[in-house]
Amino acid sequence: MASKSKLRFFNTLSRKVEDFVPINEEEVGVYTCGPTVYSRAHIGNLKAYVFADVLRRTLEYAGYNVKHVMNITDVGHLTSDADEGEDKLQKSARLERITAWDVAKKYTDMFLQDAKELNMLPVHVLCRATDHIPEQIRLVERLEENGFTYVISDGVYFDTSRFPDYPKFARLNVEGLEAGKRIDMGEKKNKTDFALWKFSRPEEKRDMEWDSPWGRGFPGWHIECSAMSMKYLGETFDIHTGGIDHISVHHTNEIAQSECGTGKKFVNYWLHSEFLVLSDQEKMSKSLGNVIDLDTIKKKGFSPMAFRYTCLNAQYSKRLLFGEKILKTAAITFSKLKEKVIELKEQLKGGSAGQTQVSEMDLGSAGKKYLLEFKESLFDDLNTPEALATMWTMLRDDSVPANEKYALLVDFDKVLGLGIKDMEREELVIPQDVMDLLEERENARKQSDWVQADKLRDEITSMGYRIVDGSGGPRLEKV
Ligand code: AMP
Ligand code: ZN
Repeated sequence: MASKSKLRFFNTLSRKVEDFVPINEEEVGVYTCGPTVYSRAHIGNLKAYVFADVLRRTLEYAGYNVKHVMNITDVGHLTSDADEGEDKLQKSARLERITAWDVAKKYTDMFLQDAKELNMLPVHVLCRATDHIPEQIRLVERLEENGFTYVISDGVYFDTSRFPDYPKFARLNVEGLEAGKRIDMGEKKNKTDFALWKFSRPEEKRDMEWDSPWGRGFPGWHIECSAMSMKYLGETFDIHTGGIDHISVHHTNEIAQSECGTGKKFVNYWLHSEFLVLSDQEKMSKSLGNVIDLDTIKKKGFSPMAFRYTCLNAQYSKRLLFGEKILKTAAITFSKLKEKVIELKEQLKGGSAGQTQVSEMDLGSAGKKYLLEFKESLFDDLNTPEALATMWTMLRDDSVPANEKYALLVDFDKVLGLGIKDMEREELVIPQDVMDLLEERENARKQSDWVQADKLRDEITSMGYRIVDGSGGPRLEKV
């Protein structure tokens, strides 16, 4: 068996950085809470999935086989996390005048396209909640058999008072919660109780509903992740990921229902990614009209890879400050990297540019040192900014021969996923709106309207392009 490198992760369970010890050396199981497909994923969501992709790639880089499972939430996620409000998919269906099934398909396809453009490796199992209704019903039955459930008028609920460890994961102060702000509990026994199965309301016309032993309805949001992760990875598995917002409700509930269903520990390592925050505002939200998705980024002339690079610039557990300036800086750095890669390729043409396997034995002492540093950074809780810094120091070091530089870059890219091997000098594909502005500027110049021409030039620059006025007319370059 090939030897594996030692990895360390910050485990939310212990709030400590721990050595990673897999259950089974042959295969590591990773479950990622995937998107709720009621609207297009925004760049905050995408940051969370870039992290999951880097985690999977790092495990593979360290020598493990990985089984990466991600769910698609296509039913049951209500507009309020407190099991109230409308099903997010039904709401979009109503607003878009299509069925919830069509909403799910539309946004799942968009998400998969975004994931592809961001060079995320396809997960080994992509599972939809609606394809796993019997598994979810079975888990609720097990909980019922073990005495953890009760039925009220709107559904079957998990009784959190029956699970004394409930507050442990999120370090919740349940008494404080109980005594604190008044939350309308309805018929629930405890504030933290949550729905396992919701009944369809008679007045509601749902596109998605199923029969169950308790009545017609649909699963609560949390149960899908327990049922599907255990189906594909076993009742106890290695790593579970999600955003930090999942700690206090979604993952706390996943642990409760899984451990009370099986009587076993659910997950050994919980890894949570911090939020992406806008540098000029607090929150991205539809009501503020400031939601940024991958299309917004592309329309401004930036490549999806520039966004991936931005994500790698911050460790997953740190907040990622995002804004146009930050994206532009990352895009410039990324294009410098590309330039460097192309230069190396041209230098090595006919030589060893095809060599992509790095063996420590073939490297000189400086190359060896950089390889080691790169691995140390990544294996220490996925410190991608430090790994990138090592990459740049290596590139600037004249004592490292070009063939080693290229081979190291290709090796690093197994984790970074920036597409090093495919980087070629390319025809610039310029967005239509930038081309239109260029034409407008030409017209302004022809009419000697220099003020307008300068204004249009500035606008083009702000979109990430520089006008180079050559003898053959103006052409555009990436800033
Ligand atoms: P959702 O589709 O709402 O279930 O969210 C999908 C994932 O995106 C979850 O892991 C969330 O924690 C994560 N997420 C949501 N908003 C942000 C944000 N602004 N920054 C980073 N991650 C986020
Ligand atoms: Zn989940």
